[in-house]
Amino acid sequence: NSQRLIEKQQRIDSSAVAYPEDIPIALEDGKGATVRDADGNTFIDMFAGIGVMNVGHSNPYVLEAVHEQTDKYVHTVDFPTEARLELIEKLDEIAPGSLQGNNKVVFGGPTGSDAIEAAIKLAKYNTGGTGLVAFRGAYHGATSGAMSITGNKDFKGDYTPLLPDVTHAPYPNPVEMEKSPPEAVEHSLEEVKAIFDDPYGGFANPAGIFVEPIQGEGGVVAPPKGFLQGLRDIADDNDVPLVFDEIQSGLGRSGQWWASECYDVTPDVMTTAKALGGTGFPLSATIYDEELDTWGSGDHAGTYRGHVVGMRAGTRAIEYIQEHDLLAHARDLGGYIRDRLEEAAEANPRIVEVRGKGLFIGAEFVDEDGSPDDEAADELQDYCFEHGVLVWKAGRHGNVLRLLPPLVLTHELAETALDVIVEGIDEVTD
Ligand code: PMP
Repeated sequence: NSQRLIEKQQRIDSSAVAYPEDIPIALEDGKGATVRDADGNTFIDMFAGIGVMNVGHSNPYVLEAVHEQTDKYVHTVDFPTEARLELIEKLDEIAPGSLQGNNKVVFGGPTGSDAIEAAIKLAKYNTGGTGLVAFRGAYHGATSGAMSITGNKDFKGDYTPLLPDVTHAPYPNPVEMEKSPPEAVEHSLEEVKAIFDDPYGGFANPAGIFVEPIQGEGGVVAPPKGFLQGLRDIADDNDVPLVFDEIQSGLGRSGQWWASECYDVTPDVMTTAKALGGTGFPLSATIYDEELDTWGSGDHAGTYRGHVVGMRAGTRAIEYIQEHDLLAHARDLGGYIRDRLEEAAEANPRIVEVRGKGLFIGAEFVDEDGSPDDEAADELQDYCFEHGVLVWKAGRHGNVLRLLPPLVLTHELAETALDVIVEGIDEVTD
């Protein structure tokens, strides 16, 4: 059935659609951390729609509020609504550091890219600058501004030139840089400083620094300590906003509400999407220091700037995470998963690093010569699929196993999934 649906759809779908070719299934059903395909096969979902389903598929607590809302109405324009107020208050309750009690929220359309566009506009508006600092390996989305600050040419295709005046600095990935963690941080920060200070290569009118506090598509790179604080200092010294893209890393994924809290560094602006819409409803938001709220009415307008159903779902999802203490669960279970992968890595030189925070986990594969091994990651994805576990890849070379399971994943399911993954690692690196 899956095959029939896929073939039929591929004949008429745009060739721009990115079918996960290694996971040839059509989905029929999803509950919690498992999904079922059109042929009745059940899978443990270890990527949760790329970090969307933090409270699990079809979470009944969230859906209850969705049904209540859809019975009333589904869409108007930006009228004040109870749903909007509820979510703004909830987001304030979980806002990091000094943003708590001191922030404004502009909701976006369905995609994270849209929240990024708002953040770029906000940074430019407030500084009057044009220069954006971003990082190699970063992914920020598929719209023009978001693509401009994305640091991987594979995602930019033939669509350049994009925004002018964007400079990419190296993200501190000790494995890729072949440096110790402190050296990697020092190197990255020096490069960022040079962008601001270098009278020959630097730009004249900086507008902001855009960074994922943990890189997702770049290969689950949790930066070593000191990097985000260093960026905080550079942003302050140059009077530009520090913008954290928490679209993949946020809302409990890292074992804290926001990955920034793993490092105790508060940005001026942050973007969120994906898990914000509760159990998969499309919604994004840009949350920022209220001092930056200088733009005018309608400066970031649009038909679906904050969908009332997504807002209801988002508030419920945050409540669900609070009531079930899923942040602590993400830390505990993430520790277990990393331990299992570390154990596999100790016995296997083809895994060069296991990394991440909470339930945002990566394992990087190399070949016998130590070069990035995307084939091993591909084969592992296939192996897991054949054995009932869905995993996703990441990294500039596609050689990183990336796990982003729903935060509701049980210990029992995690154990079953890890048995498959560890067996798969042995098999594909044999
Ligand atoms: N930023 C980050 C960190 C992301 O991971 C993504 C999506 N993978 C985006 C932005 C873009 O979000 P969307 O695909 O919803 O536009």
